Amino acid sequence: MNRRALLKRLGSLSVVPFLRPMLSGQAWGAAETQRPGFRRVRPAHPAWPTPAEWEALNQEIGGQLSRVEFPIAACSQAPDGAACAEVFKDLKNPYYVGDQAGLTQTCGWVDAWTSRPSVYAVAPRTSKDVAAAVNFAREHHLRLVVKGGGHSYQGTSNAADSLLIWTRKMNAITLHDGFVGAGCATKLPPQPAVTVEAGAIWMHTYDAVTTQGGRYVQGGGCATVGVAGLIQGGGFGSFSKHYGMAAAALLEAEVVTADGKVRIANACENPDLFWGLKGGGGGSLGVVTRLTLRTRELPEFFGVVFATIQAKSDAAFRRLIGRFVAFYGDSLFNPHWGETVTLRHNTLSINMLSHGLDAQQSVGTWKPFFDWVTAAPGDFVMEHPPTMASIPARRLWDTEYLRKSAPGTVVVDSRPGAPERNLFWAANVGEAGQYLHGYESTWLPSSLLKPERQDTLADALVSAARHWSASLHFNKGLAGAPPAEIEAAKDTATNPAVVDAFALAIIAGEGPPAYPGVPGHEPDVQQGRKAAAAIHRAMSALRAVVPRPGSYLAESNFFERNWQESFWGANYPRLLAVKKKYDPAGLFFVHHGVGSEEWSADGFSRE
Ligand SMILES: Cc1cc2nc3c(=O)[nH]c(=O)nc-3n(C[C@H](O)[C@H](O)[C@H](O)COP(=O)(O)OP(=O)(O)OC[C@H]3O[C@@H](n4cnc5c(N)ncnc54)[C@H](O)[C@@H]3O)c2cc1C
Repeated sequence: MNRRALLKRLGSLSVVPFLRPMLSGQAWGAAETQRPGFRRVRPAHPAWPTPAEWEALNQEIGGQLSRVEFPIAACSQAPDGAACAEVFKDLKNPYYVGDQAGLTQTCGWVDAWTSRPSVYAVAPRTSKDVAAAVNFAREHHLRLVVKGGGHSYQGTSNAADSLLIWTRKMNAITLHDGFVGAGCATKLPPQPAVTVEAGAIWMHTYDAVTTQGGRYVQGGGCATVGVAGLIQGGGFGSFSKHYGMAAAALLEAEVVTADGKVRIANACENPDLFWGLKGGGGGSLGVVTRLTLRTRELPEFFGVVFATIQAKSDAAFRRLIGRFVAFYGDSLFNPHWGETVTLRHNTLSINMLSHGLDAQQSVGTWKPFFDWVTAAPGDFVMEHPPTMASIPARRLWDTEYLRKSAPGTVVVDSRPGAPERNLFWAANVGEAGQYLHGYESTWLPSSLLKPERQDTLADALVSAARHWSASLHFNKGLAGAPPAEIEAAKDTATNPAVVDAFALAIIAGEGPPAYPGVPGHEPDVQQGRKAAAAIHRAMSALRAVVPRPGSYLAESNFFERNWQESFWGANYPRLLAVKKKYDPAGLFFVHHGVGSEEWSADGFSRE
């Protein structure tokens, strides 16, 4: 068969986009990769890099390339064996999971995704290593994945048949008294800041900035989340009602873009890329190799308020929620108060944190509400009476202090020889290694707090709580924050709805660590689907009172419809333009990331 006839015969086959350049002896051009039908290569394909090509990459990056091991594979031979049992125990330790190239912090999500290891991983130590990996993936048409802390709920830091850039080992943290971004010397004043490399996690960053440095940096609540992933996802922590969005604190990033260039992005250089990195979503615009974040003054105290109130009837529960909504609007809707309340089955659990108040001030603030509850013993039982306390702000992430003074609130990295500073909050144990059943979120606009709308809000909350446990995260909506923080949030890619929201409602459910095909550790799909349906009913009750439901991608539904509108609102066209400018061929792909509508669900085929 001559070459022309061979091409004709192959014409109807899906492999043609791969074979054409090889048969013609040409490399794919950028135009080819942008044409519908273009496919990235998998290991079984003839265009997959040869062992010699992989070795050349390995040499170029100083031996930092490895084949990815998948710890759960220990279960395929002996599901009842000690090695398999050990892995499933370790999946509850986020530090262990974070140290594995082949694992992610969530094992999977029923009917959405299951964690799959990449074929190879690059563990870069410098931005040059990252650039080499990006160039290799682009030239060989590989599916590229970037992983930092591995906490993506959406499964965007893992993909089968891919090359992984795993930033874990780039984790240096440096404090500055007066940072000025590159090219900004004549435009912006120096300010206190911290520079972190892309693999750093929040616990270690707080240790450096707060415990050692006596300053504050706006990050996330969960200690083991990665800094780079959270900033690109928008990012909220317990005190965001005071300090604003984490993304808004970004002063500068170093980024390797799809063309393999190492770029600086700040207000003075590549400002469009800089804007896109602030909330535009991780894994879509390039590989961030380091970030510099503004640091702030610490208050004297952070405080906690814990209580659980059980209503004795449906009617009493509705009164309780109505009263709480009014109390929140009058007394807590301000920069001092963040974190959550959770409603379920006639129970209200309060887990709130305060900024800049001592215990006496908190007691004074909450007195009218708790007095109202205790005055009606026929209606309410205090399952957990109120606990109100404050701690010196500098001690909040002080691992020595926490181990001694609040041992029940933290869990240690139990591996032999683990660093002392490897702690995580006990509140996050349930999510460690989880197999998600459902996860939905929505911002609640502050208009619902107006006196004439409070009944509507209370009715919706009560209705949601009939189906599933519903949490309001007050620190994840910026209404009530200082005007400067609202303005800073408006200068990010995040959906502008964030500044009008008084809270983010999250309704979610999960099972323990599980993996399909591992006997004894299978995810419970039937139970998961039932839970997902109930979660959806609960969220629908809330969304019914929100005119244009929005959410932020880092903590949202894998199945979010209208995700472009929900995550970015009116900012989406601008974000898409940034994507097209820096990554026109779509090297970077993540589920529901900017520009992902042009790709198949697995990111291998251009639609
Ligand atoms: C238990 C838990 C608690 C959480 N709590 C909070 C919270 O309090 N506040 C909050 O805002 N969010 C929270 N999140 C959500 C979290 O912020 C996001 O999932 C975040 O994106 C995770 O970042 P990561 O680096 O840990 O995860 P990864 O899964 O490694 O990364 C997330 C995304 O960012 C990309 N990415 C990672 N590093 C880079 C890089 N260097 N360059 C380019 N892209 C990169 C990945 O490709 C992926 O798409 C929580 C998540 C979990 C699982």
